[in-house]
Amino acid sequence: MTADEFAALCVKPETTLRQALAALDATARGVLMVLQPDGRLRRTLTDGDLRRAALDHASDTTPVSRLPEQSPLTLGQDAGPAAALALLDKHQIDHLPVVDPDGRPVDIILRRELTQRIWLSSPHLGAEETAFVEDAFKTNWIAPLGPHVDGFERELAAHVGIGHAAAVSSGTAAIHLALLLLGVKPGDTVFCSALTFVGSCNPILYCGARPVFIDSEPQTWNMSPAALERAFEWAKLEGRLPRCVIIVNLYGQSADMDALLPVCARHGVPVLEDAAESLGALYKGRASGTFGAIGVYSFNGNKIITTSGGGMLVAAGKAEMDRARKLATQAREPAAHYEHVEVGFNYRMSNVLAGIGRGQLRVLDERVTQRRRVFDTYARALADMPQVQWMPEPSGYRSTRWLTCFTLAGDHAQERRDRLLRSLERHSIEARPVWKPMQLQPLFEDAPFFAHAPDHDVSAGLFEGGVCLPSGSNLTDTQLDRVTEELRRALARIEDARAPA
Ligand SMILES: *Cc1c(COP(=O)(O)O)cnc(C)c1O
Repeated sequence: MTADEFAALCVKPETTLRQALAALDATARGVLMVLQPDGRLRRTLTDGDLRRAALDHASDTTPVSRLPEQSPLTLGQDAGPAAALALLDKHQIDHLPVVDPDGRPVDIILRRELTQRIWLSSPHLGAEETAFVEDAFKTNWIAPLGPHVDGFERELAAHVGIGHAAAVSSGTAAIHLALLLLGVKPGDTVFCSALTFVGSCNPILYCGARPVFIDSEPQTWNMSPAALERAFEWAKLEGRLPRCVIIVNLYGQSADMDALLPVCARHGVPVLEDAAESLGALYKGRASGTFGAIGVYSFNGNKIITTSGGGMLVAAGKAEMDRARKLATQAREPAAHYEHVEVGFNYRMSNVLAGIGRGQLRVLDERVTQRRRVFDTYARALADMPQVQWMPEPSGYRSTRWLTCFTLAGDHAQERRDRLLRSLERHSIEARPVWKPMQLQPLFEDAPFFAHAPDHDVSAGLFEGGVCLPSGSNLTDTQLDRVTEELRRALARIEDARAPA
C-alpha cells in the first residue's frame, strides 16, 4: 500500500462511528488503527467492532474512544512473516499493525500478502516445454544423452552465434570442466571476479588451484580493468601468471570485454566467461558468453531460462566441446568395454531436462524483454528517490536485467539496506542483498584480492548498500505495484529515521 493509503488507515480517537465506517469502506482493508494524540496505537477497529457497537445501541456520533478498551495485538519491527502468520492464526485475525519501540504504528501486515509471496526470480515456463518432455517419454529417451541434448546444444549455440556447445548438469559443473579444458592444475592460480556467486569459484578449489580475486568497477559492477592490470603486474613479479581468468557477467550484464580481453591477451592468458547470469545479454551487438576461450551458462531454477538445473559450455571449436562431453561422461574412451585413461565426471545433462531447455530457449528473447520491462517499471516508480542508484547500463551494453539491482547512496548503507530488506520480507516480498564478494568470505580469507583502486574496494561497497528486487519475467502488474509501494514506503521511513530530530 502507498504512504497515503497507510495514512488513511490511521484515525483519531475523536473519530465518530459513522466516520469510522466510512473510512473502513473507503480504505477497504478491513481495519483501521486508532492513534493516541502522541501517535501510539490505541486500538484497531474492524467491521466487527462497529457491528458490536451498533448492537450495543451506540449512536453514529459516538467517538471511537468510547468503545470498550482493547489492547491491540502488534508485531515488532524485527519480526518476520512466519512470526506474523503465527500470530494471525493464533488470534484468528487478518491484519497486524507493526509498531516501533515507542508503540507507534509504522506498518501493517495483511494476511492476504503473506499467502501471496513475491519471489526474487521464479521459473517461468513457456508453451512448448511440455511437448518436448512428452516426446522424451514417448520415445523412452529418459536416459542421459539423447536427441534433445543434441538439439539443445545445437540450438543454444546457434542462438548465441558460436560454433559448439556441451550440455551438463549445472553451471558449476560447466565451470569445473572449462577450467580443466584450459589446463588448470593443482597449485595453479586462477584470477576471478570478486563480486559473484560462489559457483564461479568453487570449481577453482575442485581443481586444487588458488583463486585470486579481482574487484569490480563502478560503471558495470563487473571486473575492473584497472584491478586486473595490477593483479597481472603482481603475478609477473611473483613469476607465476594465472592459468586463466574467470570474467563474470553479473545480474544480466556483460563485463567490459574491450577493456579486459586485451589485458589477458597481452599476457597470453585465456578467458573463461561466466555468463551464468547473462544469457540473452549483448555487448556491442554480440552475445554475452561468446567472448572467452570458453563460455558458460546456467539453467538453474532462478536463472532467466531454466531446466530446473543445468548448464552449458560453449566454444568456437568442436574439439574442446567434444572433450568437455567426454570428461562429463566419466572420460570414457571410445571402446565397447569402457576403457579409461584419465579421471572423468558424471556431469551430463539428461534428455528430459534438455527438452525443457529447448522449450525455454524459444522464449528467451521474450524473457529478456519482460525482465527489462520489470526494471523500467521500478526505475519509473522510484525516479524521485535519489538515494536509489540503479546498476548502470553503459551505452553499447544490452543487459537482460536478470535481476533489478540498486545500491543505497549515503552513510550507514548496510544498516539501511537490512532495514529495507526486513520491511519487504515482512510483506512476503523476497529481495536480497547484492552478492557478498569473495574477498569477504571466510572460505577465501587467504586469497589475494586486487581492489579497483588502492583505497577503493568497489565490490564491498556494492555489497553494503546493494539490493536485488523481485525481477521474475512472470511478475504481474499487481505484484509490481505491491513491491514498489512497499519499497517507497519503507525507503521513506528509513530516510525519515535518519533525518536529524
Ligand atoms: C548460478 C551461477 C553459477 C552456477 O550455476 P549453477 O547452475 O547453479 O551451478 C555460476 N556463476 C554465477 C555467476 C551464477 O549466478
